[in-house]
Amino acid sequence: MLQSGGPLRLGTLSLHGADPVDRAIGSPVAAPIVTATSFYTDPEAVGLSPADLGADGPFFYTRWANPTAALLERRIAALEGAEAAVCFASGMAAVAGLFLWRLKAGDHLVLSDICYPGVAEVAHDAMSRLGIAATVTDTSDPVNVAAALRPTTRLVHVETPANPILKLSDIAAIARICRAAGIELSVDSTIATRPIDLGADYVIHSLTKYICGHGDALGGVIATTADKAADLRKEALIHHGAALNPVAAWLIARGLETLPIRLRVHEENARRVADYLSAHSRLDAVYWPGLASHPQYELARRQMRNFSGMIAFTAKDGPALARRLAKRLRVFSYAVSLGKTKSLIFYIQTEPLLRGSFRLASEAADAYRRLAGDGVFRVSVGLEDPADLVADLEQALG
Ligand SMILES: *Cc1c(COP(=O)(O)O)cnc(C)c1O
Repeated sequence: MLQSGGPLRLGTLSLHGADPVDRAIGSPVAAPIVTATSFYTDPEAVGLSPADLGADGPFFYTRWANPTAALLERRIAALEGAEAAVCFASGMAAVAGLFLWRLKAGDHLVLSDICYPGVAEVAHDAMSRLGIAATVTDTSDPVNVAAALRPTTRLVHVETPANPILKLSDIAAIARICRAAGIELSVDSTIATRPIDLGADYVIHSLTKYICGHGDALGGVIATTADKAADLRKEALIHHGAALNPVAAWLIARGLETLPIRLRVHEENARRVADYLSAHSRLDAVYWPGLASHPQYELARRQMRNFSGMIAFTAKDGPALARRLAKRLRVFSYAVSLGKTKSLIFYIQTEPLLRGSFRLASEAADAYRRLAGDGVFRVSVGLEDPADLVADLEQALG
């Protein structure tokens, strides 16, 4: 790592958090893609058993570690202020790997009531089949986290800002509660960065989103301490087997180099689009953490370095508007996912989400309905000229 004088800043760490050095091929300035699945092994240096390899040992087999993925892991660890990181084939593989590694029958998990639907489904289905109890609670108020803890609670999992309505949770306050109770905290930070600074034990990203940024590779990562990362690598990566493909690792590492610059433009464009949507008479609520009208604007300003390109809005007769937008939008694509160079919009209906994924108790379900109505339009504002984005919405919304 380049280090002259003080610590490097985020805009530099995404490029220089780790050098793409490979002892065998010299020092290329850009990262090489190493697609080899296994590596020459010297029994004199390594010993005859792979168990002797250790965390810093030579590369051996790509499901364990791979030079291209390792470069990405070191850069993400640097960016997140963590000692180490472990990459996975997708964000879901990272979350499921963490849960299965950290929790056993009889343990209890607390998670945000509003979170990525796949994460809620894993907690409700796979975890409960394994005898792991899960409590979903509104983590936007830390008091609810404290109230949900049991003697058997091993992990609190928080997503902030949370898909799809961009509800925030106060990481520092929740970390204090967890620490006092001796419980670990993982934060799905796909839409933001650096929860470890605020006291989280694990930061998770779907690399598929902003970090890759171009919509052409799936990946996931968990950053944490070196000891935990070594154990996590063995238990959740090597054993479960969802290793990141080296070509995907290369695309994501390449995307990471421009992450801070892209996010600056995502945020600027989102401000233009959020202002436009807020003033539109046809729409109801507009949620963007950078709007003074966001219910948690103060927390957003305290906790987020960048308000991101994610906006949600509600409108009367959402299903009809969804069909209309899918047909008429020309710059926005009507498609799922987020964090790409291109702008995306997708309508997320409330009742199927509550029924199939969140499965909230009636009071919590009503609270979600009050924010989301019949459904929310999730907007991922891309890097196009903001005037074209606003004009596209204008002609399509009418
Ligand atoms: C997309 C997403 C995931 C899942 O990631 P994949 O790479 O699609 O498996 C998890 N959490 C959040 C917040 C996401 O947006």
